[in-house]
Amino acid sequence: MPKLYLETVGCQMNVLDSELVVGGLRRHGYELTETTEDADVIFFNTCSVRQHAEDKIYSALGRLRQHKNAHPDTVIGVLGCMAQKDQELIKKRAPHVDIICGTGQLAQLPALIKSARDTGTLQIALSLDRTESRHEVERSFESYDPMRDPSMRPNRFQAFVRIMIGCDKFCTYCIVPSVRGPEQSRPPEQIAAEVRQLAGEGVKEITLLGQTVNSYQYPPRPTGGEVLGVRGSRLSDLLVRIHDTPGIERIKFITNFPKDMTDDLLQAVRDLPKVCPYLHVPAQSGCNEMLKRMKRMYTVEFYRDMLNRCREIVPDVAISSDFIVGFSGESEESFARTCALVRDGKFKNSFIFKYSPRPGTRGHELYADDVPEEVKKRRNNDLLLIQNAASLQDHRRYIGQRVEVLVEGPSKNAWKQDAGSPMQLTGRTRTDHIVVFDGNPRLAGQSMEIDIDDATSFTLYGNVVTGEHIGVACCEMAVDRERIALPLIG
Ligand code: SAM
Ligand code: SF4
Repeated sequence: MPKLYLETVGCQMNVLDSELVVGGLRRHGYELTETTEDADVIFFNTCSVRQHAEDKIYSALGRLRQHKNAHPDTVIGVLGCMAQKDQELIKKRAPHVDIICGTGQLAQLPALIKSARDTGTLQIALSLDRTESRHEVERSFESYDPMRDPSMRPNRFQAFVRIMIGCDKFCTYCIVPSVRGPEQSRPPEQIAAEVRQLAGEGVKEITLLGQTVNSYQYPPRPTGGEVLGVRGSRLSDLLVRIHDTPGIERIKFITNFPKDMTDDLLQAVRDLPKVCPYLHVPAQSGCNEMLKRMKRMYTVEFYRDMLNRCREIVPDVAISSDFIVGFSGESEESFARTCALVRDGKFKNSFIFKYSPRPGTRGHELYADDVPEEVKKRRNNDLLLIQNAASLQDHRRYIGQRVEVLVEGPSKNAWKQDAGSPMQLTGRTRTDHIVVFDGNPRLAGQSMEIDIDDATSFTLYGNVVTGEHIGVACCEMAVDRERIALPLIG
């Protein structure tokens, strides 16, 4: 059986794309391997959002140069965003690469591998440039989502479902619209069918994916508004449509665009019991001048009002955010405004990034990267400290509360434990909080009630509520009750 090594960098979209690549290649007889040494095909599914992610791939490719010389039959491929953006650079920096395949062409990989082998020449498959006619570009980004492969998921009961491709927002710092193409929503019936298929494979939690998932609209909104009363399907309608899929227990969706956080969506989150009260809504900055430069299309006042609206409509909702520090022109004053938003925002957590100028974006073209690296680093650390204090406060609210956790499996510290001691497990609440507790690894995939008794900025700790577990066969629990009732370690 030919062997495939696949390394994935970047966002959830890339994780999903990798699952689809594996699904496609398994149908051609491939099996996965964990090392490059014995692989017949070595693929890197890449990310271009920040320079650091690209540097990692070039280093990995550099390390493979010797390997390729020694094993000329091994096919090496660069997939995804970097392939779409930098084919010339890849050719120059890594001439031993055999395939360069963009985000919209992944379904062609089996044929590309064959051609690379047959001809010994570089195979390139890329989506059309955004400047071509929109319809043509959309067709070049055809999705092949139904080819799923459960073995590529972190576990068999959680899965991503893409509901949108691409982005039309063009935030000035962001490369995504050029590498992922124009925004396209998938038809609701296709999405519903995929959710049913996943539920049939044992998936309990699905996360709907889109760069701006709450802008979902099918058929797409024509420029200039609605057509003669035809509203189309919005994200709230889609949530209603998939809500009653048998087997699905939880529905999440990421990432939200602040401007599109409409009341109908918030009401759907409040009223549909399987939809989790968790919203990831990146703010990027707390300073209006920066938001304008970033072309985010809202002010910080709008963002704060939106946070209030989310909390009014969905009681106990957990909200997380993204921030960029050191964007062009960010003064100490601008940064102080971002600190104030993080202090007041009551975010469950925030992802904080140092601005990384991306050639090909408006930001790179228009503005100098004028915040020195050491200032970016300091602001990054300062903002993290503020967010960590806020996260700790948010987490402490749960001490003494009972929460429902979907068990994901052994925690990352489980391997450090003594043999014979109960296993440390991890899972997430409906509000996406990470919970660590002791239990039997066979509980993975089950919903459990946990009493929370401790918290850090990152994690809640607790104990399984014995005798009140949900959906676990009684005989299994009888065997494990003694172990899972033991007090928590670490
Ligand atoms: N579509 C999502 C949104 O609008 O929030 C986010 C997509 S992007 C892949 C994820 C995060 O990366 C962004 O929210 C932003 O904070 C960060 N990011 C994007 N471009 C960046 C850049 N050039 N430098 C640093 N961070 C960046
Ligand atoms: Fe990038 Fe902005 Fe689109 Fe998000 S909304 S993917 S940050 S352009």
